[in-house]
Amino acid sequence: MKAAVISDDKIIVKNFDDEKLNGRKGAVVKVLGCGLCGSDIVKFVHKISPDGTVLGHEIVAQIIDINSDSKFKIGDVIVTSHHIPCGECVYCKHGNVSMCKHFKSTNIRPGGFSEYVYLSEEHLLNVAHLKPANLTEIEASFYEPLGCIVRAVKRLDLLKNDVVLVVGLGSIGILTAQALKAYGYEVVGCDLIKERIDFLKKLGILAYDVRELPKDFTAEGIFMTSGADKAIGTALKYVCNGGKILVFSSTPSDLSAYPNNEIYYRELTVLGSYSPSPLDLKDSLGLLEEGKVKVSGISTEYYIDEIQKAFDDTMSNKIMKAYIKL
Ligand SMILES: [Zn+2]
Ligand SMILES: [Zn+2]
Repeated sequence: MKAAVISDDKIIVKNFDDEKLNGRKGAVVKVLGCGLCGSDIVKFVHKISPDGTVLGHEIVAQIIDINSDSKFKIGDVIVTSHHIPCGECVYCKHGNVSMCKHFKSTNIRPGGFSEYVYLSEEHLLNVAHLKPANLTEIEASFYEPLGCIVRAVKRLDLLKNDVVLVVGLGSIGILTAQALKAYGYEVVGCDLIKERIDFLKKLGILAYDVRELPKDFTAEGIFMTSGADKAIGTALKYVCNGGKILVFSSTPSDLSAYPNNEIYYRELTVLGSYSPSPLDLKDSLGLLEEGKVKVSGISTEYYIDEIQKAFDDTMSNKIMKAYIKL
């Protein structure tokens, strides 16, 4: 089978032995496609993942072999995420599922940018779902990234009709703005790239060039999807006193920390959110299935053999999001 691996600052496609069940519980799936996540880019660029790693986790796939107590059968087209929390550790009990040791140790093998993938029984019982019939494969591939957003929106936990400013309107920002709206907030988006601002406006959500936000604008919540250091200044400028800033991306320098005194005197809350729980994922699929979060037009398709180009085009902002076809 073909799989894309990190190799010396490049992503190359290599041949491997097919994934097989070999008596294990779980399923072997044929990956139909896999979204390229911002975290895949970070892992590649900052060399967090070693050579030989198969990235990708936003898969839509068809079951070709199964040995499971779950409801699934051969031929089913499913979506799944890659990590499963234990539900019992101190992190899980506090709702910080992404910090759970079991969560971090679970994964799909070898990774989403691979023709065949092994899913454990735990995946099938906790985080896999049938692809809803009204969603295309590409639309369904937003199940996991939107799940991350749903969790972050829940953590923001503001009052109905509060204003939330989404800073950064890449694919995550576009999804976030719609998810926030679905949860009852007044949403305003901002970015520097005109096409992205227009994209959100077309979805019926207010959006501005960040340099042109109204002078008196303030928001109870700021949702940080931008990975630029400068975005932190934007957040502090527009968050109202007592407001919340949700951090949803890494920035190049860690020196750009939030200033202690502003947090103190203005009673600000700064909180982070990373990966979703099984329930957040289920809610994500609901938002997609009901059309409350629309994702058509966000992705650009690439075949696995062009995966390096997909990475390059994403990094240079030429496209909003890549979907890799297997
Ligand atoms: Zn992702
Ligand atoms: Zn746990």
